[in-house]
Amino acid sequence: MSNTDTRDPTSLRTPIVAVLGHVDHGKTSLLDKIRGSAVIEGEAGAITQHIGATAVPLDIISSIAGDLVDPDDFDLPGLLFIDTPGHHSFTTLRSRGGALADIAILVVDVNDGFQPQTLEALEILKRSQTPFIVAANKIDTVPGWNATEDAPITETYESQSDRVRSRLDESLYEIIGNLSDEDLSADLYWRVQNFQRNVGVVPVSAMTGEGVPDLLTVMMGLSQRYMKEEMEIDVAGPGVGTVLEVKEEKGFGTTIDTVLYDGTIQDDDTLVVGGQNDPIVTDVRALLQPRPLAEIRTESRFEKVESVSAATGIKVAAPDLADAMAGAPVRVVRDRPLEEVVDEVEAELADIAVDTDEQG
Ligand code: GDP
Repeated sequence: MSNTDTRDPTSLRTPIVAVLGHVDHGKTSLLDKIRGSAVIEGEAGAITQHIGATAVPLDIISSIAGDLVDPDDFDLPGLLFIDTPGHHSFTTLRSRGGALADIAILVVDVNDGFQPQTLEALEILKRSQTPFIVAANKIDTVPGWNATEDAPITETYESQSDRVRSRLDESLYEIIGNLSDEDLSADLYWRVQNFQRNVGVVPVSAMTGEGVPDLLTVMMGLSQRYMKEEMEIDVAGPGVGTVLEVKEEKGFGTTIDTVLYDGTIQDDDTLVVGGQNDPIVTDVRALLQPRPLAEIRTESRFEKVESVSAATGIKVAAPDLADAMAGAPVRVVRDRPLEEVVDEVEAELADIAVDTDEQG
């Protein structure tokens, strides 16, 4: 299952997507829906469940999105969704100088509108200058809604009565108004020409899947148009990532679930990992990925891989990880002087500390 080897030295990596929003507005359901649709549409194994993240490749996106996506328009390989939703994880998860996520979905319940955590999430997105779109969720709860499972929004919109349509419009314009109160110019996504200047609002239902094709298409388009240069990485270079979680794992000791956003990590690499006190220098003992469900019986939940490349989620087993921290940097040393890499990690840790203080 290792996803290395066949790519050019310089390659476009998958953009990393985070999902934010107020509690109960549907972040988890939306991620589940995207994962679920991808599983149904995909050939077995085409969607890969990573550690802490889900990769949805371009061909799956285009089969979910149907006519909305022409795969020839894109050369980014797909989207990598971080599985832990919410702005707490968003603020903890950083990469050098910014947010770990390249792009975000802000989920807003159409009935509930803006709530305190919606505003908090907006502040965080603004501060980190993360491009985002708004998913106006739960459109199926508009009274009288006539659902067409997994349909694009234009199609399902057409099949609603005038009364239902105007109820939905009202809620959507309220959200657009709320965004404008926050000095963000926003509009329904199909009216947005420039996604760098305007926030696109995509009506969706995480329950029925309506609008999910549009959501994936807009995310893909936005990444392709405005983020392509940032996605250019030296795939074969020494890996760089961020710790999602530090976990005890039976048979492996302390492990770090890591999102790799640059380069490659190999099972014989030396790593420098941000620790609670000093940077930890350690040698990889094993790189672990979730084993496909069908293969789990008496075997371990994980399988060992020799190497993985960005962007991906990977569990790293190595000695001395007890002091590793969620949000801390992980860097592969490879053929560079160890001191240099330790200095880089220390500098990143200092950055994180400053930011945490600023946020109080
Ligand atoms: P989170 O706290 O933002 O992760 O929200 P959840 O995904 O846990 O959703 C909160 C509740 O809203 C759950 O009961 C979901 O089933 C429900 N829900 C989420 N999305 C939708 C939707 O699109 N339509 C409807 N009808 N219910 C939804």
